[in-house]
Amino acid sequence: MAIQKLLGRYSIGTGDRFAHQAKAQLQACIQALQADVEVTPVWNKSNREHLIIGSEPTSVRRAADAAVQSLGWKGAYFCDADHITLQTVDRFVDACDFYTIDVADAIGKPAASQDVAAFAARHANLIGEIALPGTEEKFFITAQTLRATAEKYLAAVQQAGSVYRHILAVKGEGNFLPEVSMDETDAAQSPVELLLILAAIADEGIPVQTIAPKFSGRFNKGVDYVGDVVQFEREFALDIAAIAYAVRHFGLPATLKLSVHSGSDKFSIYPAIHRTMQRLGAGVHLKTAGTTWLEELIGLAEAGGEALMLAKEIYREAFAHQAELCAPYATVIDIDPAYLPAPALVASWSSAQYTEALRHVQSAPGYNPSFRQLLHVGFKIAAKMGDRYLALLRDHEAIIARNVTENLFDRHIAPVFLGRAS
Ligand SMILES: [Zn+2]
Repeated sequence: MAIQKLLGRYSIGTGDRFAHQAKAQLQACIQALQADVEVTPVWNKSNREHLIIGSEPTSVRRAADAAVQSLGWKGAYFCDADHITLQTVDRFVDACDFYTIDVADAIGKPAASQDVAAFAARHANLIGEIALPGTEEKFFITAQTLRATAEKYLAAVQQAGSVYRHILAVKGEGNFLPEVSMDETDAAQSPVELLLILAAIADEGIPVQTIAPKFSGRFNKGVDYVGDVVQFEREFALDIAAIAYAVRHFGLPATLKLSVHSGSDKFSIYPAIHRTMQRLGAGVHLKTAGTTWLEELIGLAEAGGEALMLAKEIYREAFAHQAELCAPYATVIDIDPAYLPAPALVASWSSAQYTEALRHVQSAPGYNPSFRQLLHVGFKIAAKMGDRYLALLRDHEAIIARNVTENLFDRHIAPVFLGRAS
């Protein structure tokens, strides 16, 4: 099948919770293009975010289209129905041309035993040693690995197939990009498991463009990677090798690549990601979201006056409602309450003190990852403020846009796609 618009080798997912930063985000892709690297923008927003904010998928499409028109962007761009399931996909079919089919909940659910047996029989040729071009390592697959992986993942992949066919029936072949995501689960998938998952995805007939496994280590929201960077780099290379093998042997699209979820702010692994892509000639989709909302807050704090007061009020409310705000994100944040400043103290802060605590510059003495993570999950407070918040975004558009673009380009696109230290 032909995808009419290509995602390209490099792409970045950006979240724009309040639909005011699409232009500033696109500006970061324009800066990449000026450095001769095309990075395709994909505006993603999950059903969960839409519910919390009270927005509709069409608002993401409108903001993306307007930004593209206003800045004269000639490349491809997409709107991603992020983390959808059969239950939530329908409201996205008009607005989106990229679908992140989330089947993490079905991992470990049993598939029909005859399906598991059929999978094991169909792929019996994978048993043994598999050499992987581009790495010195090999995969060793036994009959037991084949069965155990099918028992764990086949039901999830079958579910992805149902969702894919549901979207296909409405949108038609070639009119959307399917991603399969398995990142929101407890255990990481090994590169061997990824290879077998891709075999199952090919069996389901899904022309998957991006695949989002759960990598080892912690990918907390809005802060740096926590884990063994050397091990990450090794696994990342093996995942890319597994994809290359799957493209060649299972007939998956040649454009298939990894999607790194919760990909914002993982500064310590960006050099490894860049190096590995260069070495293996691969691309990546780096999915970010809430990092932009934090730049809105930084811009408001920097603006001072009423805008700084509002940024402080948002922290005060987030502090008061931390249990409720953190609950949906419990597995992907690590807030140390001992490091959360008292709202009364924050009330006395200058613009510089607030922005230094929040901005993701780890070498800054005032940088506070607990403060940052609490505000990361605190966007519901701003959503509740409604037009009071939005009016200040409009009043301080220039200062906020500068922060949004700089964060996305300098701290994300440049190290991942251009190989520049941030
Ligand atoms: Zn995800």
